[in-house]
Amino acid sequence: MTVADHRSPTAVRAWFGDVHRRGVVGHNRFALTFDDGPFDGATDAVLDILKAEDAPATFFVIGEYAARWPGTVRRMHEEGHLVANHTWSHWRFGMLCSQRYWREEIRRTDEIIQEIIGRRPLMFRPPMGIRTPMNVQALRATGHACVMWTGRGRDGVNTTKQRILDRLIEPAADGDVILLHDGRDSASRRDPQPTIDALPELIAAYRNKGLQPAPLDQLLELPAYE
Ligand SMILES: [Zn+2]
Repeated sequence: MTVADHRSPTAVRAWFGDVHRRGVVGHNRFALTFDDGPFDGATDAVLDILKAEDAPATFFVIGEYAARWPGTVRRMHEEGHLVANHTWSHWRFGMLCSQRYWREEIRRTDEIIQEIIGRRPLMFRPPMGIRTPMNVQALRATGHACVMWTGRGRDGVNTTKQRILDRLIEPAADGDVILLHDGRDSASRRDPQPTIDALPELIAAYRNKGLQPAPLDQLLELPAYE
């Protein structure tokens, strides 16, 4: 099955193609998503917290890092989290590149994920959330859903635990898709500790509002894998 066979109720028509932001509401759920990993140390710390909190999440991994830390990707899968595609190289000037470049970035990442966990992903998030006609066409051709977010911690750069919590807790609502970072793209030198420190309180705040963490395939009613 591909995404084309299964148009999710959360698909929103946007400039030149569908995107997914908020999940299906009415079930009191939200999704935690982590970009730019796996990364040595930081991702394991995030996984430890998710395990202690019994909180399923979704990881948009960079293919190059998945190849470097396959054991961490395997751990994500074995502990009940979803693994999704966030390009091979996360190159920031990719936004200027051809459809062929994007298809290659997507294919290589799908392949390394499949090699590690035995499943080929169908969810994709573009680096920095930047959609271009070229990457949208590549996504359509490869059958991936483009998943964005409703709220983000702005933790891809150096920040503090309190700043992350202040951004996310007050507006917390049913169907939220929260963007955080467990890894780092090649240009950033951020410290992942504020994200790790904020996570237990963030999950507790959502639970206090009666909202439970869920993997993206449940929240978006979309297949995570082929
Ligand atoms: Zn990213």
